[in-house]
Amino acid sequence: MLKKILYFLWASVFLGLILVSLQSGSFVSFVHSMENSTFDIRQKVISGSGVRKHNPDIVIIAADDASYEYVLEHYGEWPLNRALYAKMVDYIEAQNPKSIVFDMMFVKSMKSNKSADDELIKMFEKYNNVYTAMNLDDQPSDLRIPPELPAKLAIIPDDMADDVMHYTNCRIILQGILDATSNIGMINVARSEDGVLRKMPLYLKYRGKYYPQLAYRVFLDSEYNKNQRIKSDDEGSVILNWYGPAGTYKNIPLYEVIKAANGEERLNFDFKDKIIYFGATAASLFDIKTVPVDKVYPGVEVQATYINNLIDNSLIQKAPSLVTLLTGILLAFLTILCVFKISSMAIASGMTVTIYSIYVMIAYFLMQFKNIWLELVVPMMFTLFAYIIAVVIKYLIKSRDFDQQYKLATTDGLTELYNHRYFQEQLHNFVSHASRYESPLSLIIIDIDFFKKFNDSYGHQSGDAVLRQVAFTLKKNVRMSDIVCRYGGEEMGIILPSTTYEEAVNIAKKLCALVASKKYKLSNGKESNVTISLGVSAFGKDGKNPSELIEAADKRLYNAKANGRNRVN
Ligand code: GH3
Ligand code: MG
Ligand code: MG
Repeated sequence: MLKKILYFLWASVFLGLILVSLQSGSFVSFVHSMENSTFDIRQKVISGSGVRKHNPDIVIIAADDASYEYVLEHYGEWPLNRALYAKMVDYIEAQNPKSIVFDMMFVKSMKSNKSADDELIKMFEKYNNVYTAMNLDDQPSDLRIPPELPAKLAIIPDDMADDVMHYTNCRIILQGILDATSNIGMINVARSEDGVLRKMPLYLKYRGKYYPQLAYRVFLDSEYNKNQRIKSDDEGSVILNWYGPAGTYKNIPLYEVIKAANGEERLNFDFKDKIIYFGATAASLFDIKTVPVDKVYPGVEVQATYINNLIDNSLIQKAPSLVTLLTGILLAFLTILCVFKISSMAIASGMTVTIYSIYVMIAYFLMQFKNIWLELVVPMMFTLFAYIIAVVIKYLIKSRDFDQQYKLATTDGLTELYNHRYFQEQLHNFVSHASRYESPLSLIIIDIDFFKKFNDSYGHQSGDAVLRQVAFTLKKNVRMSDIVCRYGGEEMGIILPSTTYEEAVNIAKKLCALVASKKYKLSNGKESNVTISLGVSAFGKDGKNPSELIEAADKRLYNAKANGRNRVN
């Protein structure tokens, strides 16, 4: 009973905790961060397995540590003079690349040199496949007046999100570039709460208009754009699918391209049909992110990954929450089925783990082959919760069944006294106990007087009714520790632990008088009297084993009958 109460308490505390946690925001964000971790693990394993091949036409010209040193040494300044960028564009364009994308912002700066800037601007006029970046922000307008952007930079999204990331200000780039081209995209990112970059905006909102992210801008103009609809979330963001850790894309150090453009050294690389990204990979240039597959990942490689995703149509689609809920319910259902249908707890638990593992495998392969993010944490919680509840319920049912069976095995159906088998068992136990501890133990055997006659006069039904009532009277008038049994027929036995012979005789006399004084209801509604005869024996005085005790009590019962019944001997 106590056990049952404990189980109920435990289950309700558990349920309560779940309900409370479901309402608290910290729990929701805990679940999110757990889910994000499962995403990161899947991404790491899939990209590490080498099954997903990155696009070899995407190439990075990297401002790496060596190039940074080279530029400082040869030009005495960083950033690099813009005339040199112009020279490199000309050099690469001669080889017919698909596009050249600067993951850099050419803002007006103190170091701006008009003639160098003009050289660069000329490149944007000359080639329609050169792209560059801008960044939206929320600087207060008294610091920087929000500029109006040329209308040609804006797009009308296919699929308008409700809650698009929006900004009130922006960092303006050279007016000449803005005039020369519409090949400008935003390089804002959308980090998760834990700072890891999993999503990128597809487009952003600024002063009522929508502007594409840099990779999306490049994609929209490319041969890969077949007007396919790119599904974004309610922020207008998409989830990136990773092709590998930092260094996945071909990196050509910037200084090698500078040398080649200056005609100093040949560069053994063909830029034909390549999508070329200029960007920083040097840690000292600070454009470093943490992504699911790597802690230190250059921003320019994020851009490369993004365009690769757009080209391959491999952006991650998160399964709708309804799917998560339904799979959770299905898993919970299967778990409950296992726990109830499989009798062995170990096998049922093993099956539950197996079912969930199969689900994890399915989720893994859906991500690998279909780019679908099927949630793992919420369904796991459903499974765990269903498992715990099912186990508790199964245990409660089992213990109830056990109690019922135990009762059936030890009690007599008619009188609800203990049965003969239980009587023998207990007498045996108490005799052992009495001999070990030298404690007193007595036995009373009771037989109803002239019961045959009673049956003959009033019928067997009335006999049964009286038998029940006598049994009840006996049980109610002895101690809790005394064991009252139906010995057989209309004979009953009472085991009285820690009771001396004299005490037992007194109890027997009391019972004898009590039974005789009562009126018993018959099956026809009338009442009648009945008497009993009792034989008492005690451990030590009459013997030291159960059969000696029974024999002695029986003998005295016979004497009581012989001496006129309704008495104790
Ligand atoms: P005595 O005073 O000598 O004990 O006379 P008696 O008629 O009671 O004799 P005995 O104990 O030998 O007889 C037992 C009778 O009790 C036989 C049977 O009719 C009756 N009896 C035994 N078990 C049951 C029972 O479960 N229900 C009913 N109604 N009668 C029972
Ligand atoms: Mg009798
Ligand atoms: Mg009898």
